[in-house]
Amino acid sequence: MTEVFVLRLGHRPERDQRVTTHVGLTARALGARGMYLASRDSGVVSSIQDVVTRWGGDFLIQDEVSWKRCIREWKKSGGIVVHLTMYGERLPLHEETLRETERMLVVVGAEKVPGEIYGLADYNIAVTGQPHSEISSLAVFLDRLFAGRELDSDFPGAKIRIIPSSSGKITEEL
Ligand code: SAM
Repeated sequence: MTEVFVLRLGHRPERDQRVTTHVGLTARALGARGMYLASRDSGVVSSIQDVVTRWGGDFLIQDEVSWKRCIREWKKSGGIVVHLTMYGERLPLHEETLRETERMLVVVGAEKVPGEIYGLADYNIAVTGQPHSEISSLAVFLDRLFAGRELDSDFPGAKIRIIPSSSGKITEEL
């Protein structure tokens, strides 16, 4: 399975905390290995770390990341960079090729992203050509990339887990 990290750009601590936390939780739940945040926000970092401690897995969350350095180093180490944008090429066009990648940095914005990103990315990928959100585009992208296999992932080291149920909430403390 491709090793995926997410780079979250344009986070404004005063208004994006909830959405950025959900970008991180979506990334973690759907098979990414970590999220780099190109802003400083210890609140987002600790919310996600709390979830990792309780629900398991080894998801990295790091704030105050220089996005340019992150992209540069990612490419230098042989990984590819995919920027999710409604202006990009449609996902089905590259889906198969992207699945063959070993390491991938997926870039999502908040408001307008710096224009340079379009040139730095190896792929600019649209999840439909309609405006929606970084959470939905990331979720659909990861599900297509992993072809649904991420829906049955294990999260080792969890303190709690859910026993799937057709009729109520059943959890188990581990
Ligand atoms: N107007 C902004 C722009 O020019 O990029 C869009 C902001 S949107 C609220 C925030 C992020 O959601 C974008 O940076 C992009 O990563 C993602 N996004 C929104 N719609 C998308 C789509 N159709 N396909 C892929 N990504 C999308």
